[in-house]
Order: sequence, then C-alpha cells, then structure tokens
Amino acid sequence: VSPTADVYPKRIMEYIEGFLISKTLFTSCELGVFELLLGSERSLSAAEISQAVGASLDGTERLLAACTGMQLLNRHQDDGKVSYSNTEQARLFLTRSSPLSLYQSIHYHSKTIYLCWHYLTDAVREGRTQYEKAFGVSSGDLFEAIYRSDEEMVKFMQLMHSIWNICGKDVVTAFDLSPFKVICDLGGCSGALAKHCTSAYPECTVTIFDLPKVVHMSKEHFIKEDDQRISFHEGDFFKDSLPEAELYILARILHDWTDERCVELLQRIYKACKPGGAVLVVEALLSEDGSGPLTAQLYSLNMLVQTEGRERTDVQYAALLTAAGFTNIRHCLTGKIYDAVLGHKKA
Ligand code: SAM
Repeated sequence: VSPTADVYPKRIMEYIEGFLISKTLFTSCELGVFELLLGSERSLSAAEISQAVGASLDGTERLLAACTGMQLLNRHQDDGKVSYSNTEQARLFLTRSSPLSLYQSIHYHSKTIYLCWHYLTDAVREGRTQYEKAFGVSSGDLFEAIYRSDEEMVKFMQLMHSIWNICGKDVVTAFDLSPFKVICDLGGCSGALAKHCTSAYPECTVTIFDLPKVVHMSKEHFIKEDDQRISFHEGDFFKDSLPEAELYILARILHDWTDERCVELLQRIYKACKPGGAVLVVEALLSEDGSGPLTAQLYSLNMLVQTEGRERTDVQYAALLTAAGFTNIRHCLTGKIYDAVLGHKKA
C-alpha cells in the first residue's frame, strides 16, 4: 500500500486509545458521577455535578462530554441549559447498589490490575508475575501477595463477587447439576456461586471451602444472613483434607496455577469425591487453536502478570482432569465470559 493510499487504520487507532476509554470509565466511577445521578430526581448540570463530586468545573465538563460519547450518560438541552442523566446501561451496571453492579470490578481494575499491566512488557519478557514491581510485595506465595492487607483482600473478594452478578446463573446451569445434592465450592471466596447454586438447585447444600482469613471475611461481609444450606470450611486445598462431596466446584481456581499444581489439586479432589460424583471447572475457555475469544486471550495475559497460571482450552482442561482420574469429560460454552467443564468419577 502506498503511503498516499486512502487507508485509515480504524482498529489500530481504537487499540491505541483503548486505555483512555477504560480510564474515563474508572474516573467517572471513582468520582461517583453515576451514583450521584442515580440519587437525583432530575438530570444535573456540569456545575451541579462538579460541586457535588468535589471536582473542577472544566475537568468535569470534559469528563461528562466523554461519558456522553461513550453512551454512559444522556445529554439533555433545554432552553440552552445542558444537563446529564445516566443511560440505562450506566444505571444497571455502574451504580453500586444495582443487583447487576460491576462497580467493584471497575474499582479493582482501576486500582490493581491497571497498575500491574504497567509492567506487561516485563511480564512477557520474564514470563512471570509483576506483583513485586507493582506493589513491592513478594510473589513467593501468590495469595499472600494478593491478600497483602485486609483492605486488599476485601477488594479482591468484591471483584470476584461482582462478575457473578452478570453470569453466575449461566455457569451453574450450564449442566444439570440437580443430581448432586452435596456440593463443595473449593476456593469459594465470597460465596456468590454458592448462592447461585442454592437458588438454581433447591435440594442442594453447599460448603464454601477457602483459606481461614477469606472465610472470616466472607462471613463478615458477604454471607451475613443465616442461610441453612450454605456452610463454611476453613483450610488450604493443597494441604488439608477436603470435605467429602458429590460435586466440587473449581471456579477460576485452575487458571491461577501451573499444570503440575492443577493435577495435584485435582488428584486430591478425586480422592475425596464420592463415587458417581463430579467436578465442575468454571473458566474462560480458549478456542481449540487458541485463536479466540479475545477476552480469554487477554485474561491469559492477565494471569501471566498476576498469577502462576494461564487460561486454557477445553482439551487442556480435559487433559488435566484425565490425569487426575476423572472420566466422561464434557464442556459447555455459555456465550458469556465464563464457561464450564464437567468431569466425572466412576460410580
Ligand atoms: N471461586 C471464586 C470465584 O470464581 O469467584 C474465587 C476465585 S479466586 C481467583 C481464587 C480463590 O481461591 C480465592 O478465594 C482464594 O482465597 C482461594 N484460594 C487460593 N489458594 C487457596 C488454598 N491454598 N486453599 C484454599 N483456597 C485457596
């Protein structure tokens, strides 16, 4: 192509500027713009918004204009006066109190993931996590680094929790899990998927297994009400004995670890699992030739920056499950971010 040819690299321009879009979203959430508009009975002017969120008028005007361009805000003009209101998408997904809120996910992306990705080039060069550079914490023990303070632990748990607001039901109903009455969610974190299980399957009970400090935090901040069908078990799934169950859930667990660690964990599960039981792996599946979906490819880079693991294809998960003894392995693509793989232990 000659330099004068009429070509415009639209996609590449979008890639160059992609982080500007993310940061505009992060800042609007951090300043509380969508929250303010949710609580207001009428649309608000830039001056009212800037005053309420404690920001400069000029900066706020530009931010609101960009949010309008991103279709997160509606712009109204009445008698020459300009005002703003939330779009339906902003109201549903960007306000804290919405049942479909992604606010906590946005917060973690802004405050943690974005900072780690500053070192993506180093991560690719070195083939390892960048926690040490980004936060000055040793990544010797992965979750010691992620949970470097109670505040960070709650933020991580909120991140884990919030995605299930939009796709939790899809992953627990990808397969009919009703034959399994005793379920153990290993690394069950905030209990979001446990709740989706008890809603979808009225006869099951779920034990949330996680590190002691995570269980304490989950009881304090996430599963406060007395739910008779959800219980907790504190432990280290690499060291402590696992409770006997008919179904084990491993949601976003295997992607944190190397193949060797995954097989070690799956073998421990296989031993504890009742004959005729199963394991449900919930992950963002890469397509067979690794050519997509882009989200899973980017998540795999994120796993490189932040963990010891990677995203995998269904065949790669099947190989790990087979190595641990599981048979009759099937997978189901949900059409959303996370998919499901089910492996069985012979009766
Ligand atoms: N399953 C949850 C979900 O998908 O929302 C959380 C996934 S999070 C990436 C990994 C979880 O594994 C965290 O809750 C973490 O505390 C837990 N975990 C990490 N190492 C563990 C260990 N050795 N024993 C038990 N739980 C562990």
